[in-house]
Amino acid sequence: MSSHLTVGVFALQGGVREHLQALTAAGVEAITVRRPEELARVDGLVLPGGESTTIVKLARTFDLLDPLRARIADGLPVFGSCAGMILLADRVDSGGSPLDATIGGIDITVRRNAFGRQVDSFEEDLEIEGVTGEPVRAVFIRAPWVQEVGPAARAIGTVAGGDKAGHVVAVRQGSLLATSFHPELTGDGRIHDLFCRIVAGTG
Ligand code: GLN
Repeated sequence: MSSHLTVGVFALQGGVREHLQALTAAGVEAITVRRPEELARVDGLVLPGGESTTIVKLARTFDLLDPLRARIADGLPVFGSCAGMILLADRVDSGGSPLDATIGGIDITVRRNAFGRQVDSFEEDLEIEGVTGEPVRAVFIRAPWVQEVGPAARAIGTVAGGDKAGHVVAVRQGSLLATSFHPELTGDGRIHDLFCRIVAGTG
């Protein structure tokens, strides 16, 4: 991967460190983003898991919400995992937990905490379009699922078996990528590699 690329991790709240490590392993320069100047210099951005309501509030407080929307509208590649997927969704079915605004960009409706209260976290093997080799071991933690994929977006990963079969958990729209699960937690760098190829313009 071309080492001149700088990829940020939105670092207001949530699981930042593992994404920085996975991006570094993928061969890019990884930096934290907490200020508009930092946002301005990245070639791509990761929105990590955490609490989507908190991340949106802090983004507004730190004057990052509008600049980020503007950069996404300009084509900035962004990868959102879990809460990050919620933030990239154009529409949210909040499942009783209100979320006043998302950042938006991907033509999907996500349902927060969709897999139910009983199942706070679980793991599944998934085939993801754009990732070759073994299936991806996906770790879900109070995860959303994609309830509706609009015409501009594409489902690239769907749960294949078990009682959660058929739920879309990975999507792509141009240079925007989102997963319901946490690829940064398994030591399998292939989703971050895919995202870095997207940032490099080859994915
Ligand atoms: N449940 C969280 C939310 O709705 C997301 C959980 C996560 O990112 N692990 O924002």
